Amino acid sequence: KPSLSVKDLHVSIEDTEILKGFGIDVKGGEIHAIMGPNGTGKSTLASALMGHPKYEVTSGEATFNGEDLFDMEVDERARAGLFLAMQYPSEVSGVTNADFIRSAMNADRDEDNQVSLMQFIRKIDDKMGTLEIDQSFQHRYLNEGFSGGEKKRNEILQLLMLEPKMAILDEIDSGLDIDALKVVAKGINELRSEDFGCMIITHYQRLLNYIKPDFVHVMMQGRIVKSGGPELAQKLEENGYDWIKDELGIED
Ligand code: ADP
Ligand code: MG
Ligand code: MG
Repeated sequence: KPSLSVKDLHVSIEDTEILKGFGIDVKGGEIHAIMGPNGTGKSTLASALMGHPKYEVTSGEATFNGEDLFDMEVDERARAGLFLAMQYPSEVSGVTNADFIRSAMNADRDEDNQVSLMQFIRKIDDKMGTLEIDQSFQHRYLNEGFSGGEKKRNEILQLLMLEPKMAILDEIDSGLDIDALKVVAKGINELRSEDFGCMIITHYQRLLNYIKPDFVHVMMQGRIVKSGGPELAQKLEENGYDWIKDELGIED
């Protein structure tokens, strides 16, 4: 079973500490939702785990399948099966979406075990059907001129094609209408298995109506301050975050 383990992680951006002792354990078969107010460090967590150079890990540790994540190069993390969908995906010019996905699929495969063009086409047609994505999509340049909703669907297409062992999905629900949200949820639910673990970072509870998390964690001021089951997300939807601040005596 895949496992991602983060312990007492401290991360700074330009000498300001953003993550202040973040910890979590995610195993295959589990979906963890991380919720929290804006500016609390959720995207910082995702970026730090994927090795964005701007984010300095000052202390703590993270292991992926027992290996020190911060000892791995960024592309090694991806090849080992860690997938990150960013809140603001970057635009990559000159590479079509299909080319990008196929080379990413083949990156962690031996030379004699590459995905053939036929296999690739069959799979991408199938997954695009699931996600109700238009055929022209795969020939367009990666993320260039994609609308917000198209970028999100495309991230989920990449997710379904790559079948990573562990995914960190940051605000994949932002800017999606309810139909797109359902389609994205369907894609993620398709991946659910003992061989797949997932961290869903979200400000809003609504995505969790369609993807039932096993664990819900509330993040404030750079660390997890409360954990529970799906009912915790429901309570946050109804009551916001202030009651947690009151309960824990956190000042804004
Ligand atoms: P969240 O995703 O929970 O909304 P972020 O991780 O985006 O929070 O941001 C946490 C804090 O770090 C905020 O105070 C934000 O202003 C700051 N921050 C985030 N990214 C940068 C950056 N690239 N440079 C400087 N400060 C940043
Ligand atoms: Mg934010
Ligand atoms: Mg964010």
